[in-house]
Amino acid sequence: MKESTIKYGIMGGTFDPIHIGHLVLAEEVRNKLNLDKIIFIPSGNPPHKDSKNVTEPIHRYEMTLLATISNPNFEISSVEIDRTGKTYTVDTIKELRQKCKTNAEFYFITGADSILDLPNWKNVNELLHLCKFVAATRPGFKLKKMEEKIKELEELHNKNIYTIIVTALQISSTDIRNRIRDGHSVKYLLPESVEDYIYKNKLYFKKNYKECW
Ligand code: NAP
Repeated sequence: MKESTIKYGIMGGTFDPIHIGHLVLAEEVRNKLNLDKIIFIPSGNPPHKDSKNVTEPIHRYEMTLLATISNPNFEISSVEIDRTGKTYTVDTIKELRQKCKTNAEFYFITGADSILDLPNWKNVNELLHLCKFVAATRPGFKLKKMEEKIKELEELHNKNIYTIIVTALQISSTDIRNRIRDGHSVKYLLPESVEDYIYKNKLYFKKNYKECW
């Protein structure tokens, strides 16, 4: 008997920190594309980023775990943070394919910024054959530029790229980090468990942060 195909959404991102926008997006893509599971993959050491400016992988992993644990359709993988050296998405998808015993179809979900940079990714042609891409963006964000670029990519690689506009993505990790640094509230922008984790581990505070009583 032919095995049925399992459709996985792969949510790749720095998640520094993960917030409600990421979670709403994942759930929305899962519903719209009829996916079975979403696997969150906190990025390891992507080629375009200086790891010194990013929070330690273990914290980003823990926060992603806390944020996703209550949803049975969400899973998390440490495949990238366990890898040494630069982490490339093409290697991640190949590793996931090997791990999957069943017939699997992958949908890589990521921000529009990253999609615009796709031509610079490692083995992009191979990658676009290994998985489908879902580009998520905030309302109004470089929409025209993104559409043009996506059309170009689709024609060049003869592949379809899904786009999705998510209002909740108005929330941004950068804004959350700035708010915490400036002592402003981040309530309701991220799950309470993640907020607690941030305060407990004193993430995103000024370097000279001291407790005041
Ligand atoms: P990022 O810095 O985490 O995010 C870039 C932008 O997209 C930010 O505005 C971010 O918003 C948003 N975003 C992040 N994750 C998202 C998601 N899953 N869905 C929707 N929006 C999202 O992203 P990045 O470091 O560029 O990496 C994104 C993914 O692409 C990672 O998995 C990374 O490994 C991969 N990547 C691979 C290569 C390569 O293989 N050569 C190169 C670049 C990136 P927030 O700040 O609010 O999260």
